[in-house]
Amino acid sequence: LTATIIDGKAVAADVRARVAEAVAAELDSLGRPPALATVLVGSDPASHVYVANKRKACEQAGIRSIHHELDAEIDPEELIALVGRLDADPGVDGILVQMPLPAPHDAERVLAEISPRKDVDGLTPVNAGLLAQGKIGVSEALELAPRPGGEPAAGMVACTPSGVMELLARSGVELEGAEAVIVGRSTLVGRPLASLLLAANATVTVCHSRTRDLAATCARADVLVAAVGVPGLVKGEWVKPGAVVIDVGINRTDEGLVGDVEFGSAAERAVAITPVPGGVGPMTIAMLLANTLRAARANVSR
Ligand code: NAD
Repeated sequence: LTATIIDGKAVAADVRARVAEAVAAELDSLGRPPALATVLVGSDPASHVYVANKRKACEQAGIRSIHHELDAEIDPEELIALVGRLDADPGVDGILVQMPLPAPHDAERVLAEISPRKDVDGLTPVNAGLLAQGKIGVSEALELAPRPGGEPAAGMVACTPSGVMELLARSGVELEGAEAVIVGRSTLVGRPLASLLLAANATVTVCHSRTRDLAATCARADVLVAAVGVPGLVKGEWVKPGAVVIDVGINRTDEGLVGDVEFGSAAERAVAITPVPGGVGPMTIAMLLANTLRAARANVSR
């Protein structure tokens, strides 16, 4: 077997174009372009690149980008107050605080300032809870047409997991009854993705740093997702022949950006696999734009 390479860049470009089209078509009803506030704290180079890419993508989709950059040393109370002001500002539709926040900032306290309807990252407890209860899911995440009667969005789904679901859907992967194994249980990726796969009727296993036999668990997977942050942790020989492999990992090494999966050997066994870069990464930004459009609709309908 030699795997089909799942082209995240192409799928993301298509989603972004559809968001741009919807934004243009709804300018009159929205009264102004959708507006996304980004808050970047500290000097982590990767975070700076991510935020710059998000802002550029906003502008290309006709979304206004409002950016705040703060020193890591800023008083934590000041950061909390800024996010609170953005939340109260009717001209701001979505708020994205780039994670991870440097010490001593408390991400939970900062996120608590964001209303669920402005939480385009889907990280607040209300949105995470709605997803965990199966009350929101993939259909909301990619709601690119307005709801009938201008009804506001039901909730926000985290961007990276909904991007993974979109890649699986576009690749025609059958999830109903499939064995899905996720390596990683973070609130940003592993947990919300488990809820989405469960909602799609997959049988879901979530592995983590204390999992006893990672190799054997991965070998059961029809759909294997790695979201760990350890280069090449998932070996090609753990991949069941014919499985679909989604690599969320983004690791900077001397050889450049690599994922959490040993790509070459995994691609010999998988039926389809995402590359790093060019797989899941571009989808995260595309889904952020979709969430911002939905947040703008919810904001103006208030
Ligand atoms: P995290 O550090 O919050 O979580 C990592 C998870 O991996 C933890 O749940 C931990 O239990 C598990 N883990 C650690 N070591 C393990 C091991 N040896 N065996 C099994 N499980 C182990 O990371 P995260 O925020 O979920 O990110 C994971 C990776 O995905 C990172 O490389 C990150 O850069 C990348 N990422 C990519 C995108 C994207 O847009 N593509 C978005 C978010 C994160």
